[in-house]
Formats: sequence, structure tokens, C-alpha cells
Amino acid sequence: MGYKFGTKSITRLGGVHPDLVDVFTNAIEISKIDFGISCGVRSKKEQARLVASGASKTMNSKHIPQEVDGFSHAIDIFCYLDGRLSWELPCYWKAGDAILKASREKGVKLRWGACWHIYNLLHLDHHKKSCEELCMEYTDLRRSQGKTPFIDSPHWELGK
Ligand SMILES: [Zn+2]
Repeated sequence: MGYKFGTKSITRLGGVHPDLVDVFTNAIEISKIDFGISCGVRSKKEQARLVASGASKTMNSKHIPQEVDGFSHAIDIFCYLDGRLSWELPCYWKAGDAILKASREKGVKLRWGACWHIYNLLHLDHHKKSCEELCMEYTDLRRSQGKTPFIDSPHWELGK
């Protein structure tokens, strides 16, 4: 506990919406797992490459500076487990719980890439759920619809 961002993560927060920067800067301090920022702002060109490779589904990515204010409205994280990079889902639940806690305290609406069906995680229906519960709920919902879940657990964006 008491983690803090390295220089690269701090640099990658440049151009990101101040509310997100505020939430994530607080989240790293209260997180039970270490994590960093892999992406804040992304250019249209980079996004096109990700869509072509299947890593992203949309050209309307919130990482692209938004017309309304010129900021990126999204952040991707990566987790460290025992000092090594980890892509295991439970790590992202753990980091996510700190992000949710920070967002709830600051009143910043978020949407998470492992529960796309919820556009505002501050909503009363969801404000007590853990990231594991939210992720399971989304997975169950997609399966009940006969659809494959698209889990992008490192991705967080401003909700509405
Ligand atoms: Zn993302």
C-alpha cells in the first residue's frame, strides 16, 4: 500500500481529463496492488491501427482528444504482481476497486471496460458493487444474450 506512479505513468496522464487524473492519482495511493498508466491520449492514427488489429472495437475511442474539451476521457492501466507485469483479471479487479473507491469519494462518474453495460458506475444500483461482481454481471449478461463478452479490464473512461 501507499504506491505511487512512476515518471512514465505521470507523463502518460498528460492531456487526460483532470477529473480522471484526480481519481487515478488518489487510487494508486489507496490501491492494494501496484499499477501504472499505459495510455491516456491516443491519436486517430494509433486508434485506427488498434481497430485493424482487433485490439479495439471502435474509432470513437475516448482516448482520442474529445471535441468538447480537447482532453482524453480514458485511461488504460497495467498491473504489477510481485514486481512483474500481469494481465490476470483478478489484478484488475483489485486495482479497479481502488479506482472505484476514489471515484465514489470524488463523485466522478466512470465506465469500465469489463462492464460496458453500465454507463455510470456511481448510479445507486451499482455503487456498492466490487469490480469482480461488475465483471461477472457483464459476462453473465452477454452470455444470456448469446454474445461474447468483450473484456478490456485495463480500460476506464468518464461515464455519463
Ligand atoms: Zn483504453
